[in-house]
Amino acid sequence: MDKYRHILLATDFSEHAERAAERAKELADLYQARLTLLHAVEDLVLYDEFYDPVIPDRLEVDQERLNRGHEMLVKLAERIGAKEAHSEARLGYPKAVILEYAEEQKVDLIVVGSHGHRGLARLLGSTARALVNDAPCDVLRVRLPG
Ligand code: AMP
Repeated sequence: MDKYRHILLATDFSEHAERAAERAKELADLYQARLTLLHAVEDLVLYDEFYDPVIPDRLEVDQERLNRGHEMLVKLAERIGAKEAHSEARLGYPKAVILEYAEEQKVDLIVVGSHGHRGLARLLGSTARALVNDAPCDVLRVRLPG
């Protein structure tokens, strides 16, 4: 059986994803695989009282949010002892961003938290569920202990 060569950790910076990041690092070491940390910066659309989208200076706001996401990924890489990992922040809907990246970069294992910021309110987080159904590779959904 082939070893994993490129492991993708997708994070929304929740405690669930933090745990998944630790597991992803452990697996990357075990398989001597490349590790990429990915964060999807979700589109922000605010509406005024006429339901017209309010976009102050869209490109600038998006770029700032992407930069901030990238900085947070670099800090995460340091926390889990994976300074060599590639950090990537992309704009878009998480499921679409993660699937697109996985296909484009020939990822063979996607690691996610079982839930996101909304925690256990949903039985199985929607991003995790969508990935399990649609990913072109293996998906590991990591649970918090307890
Ligand atoms: P959710 O489906 O939102 O409950 O999230 C489940 C898991 O999907 C999280 O623990 C993350 O690993 C991943 N995830 C959710 N949102 C994002 C995002 N914006 N960017 C990257 N990964 C995400």
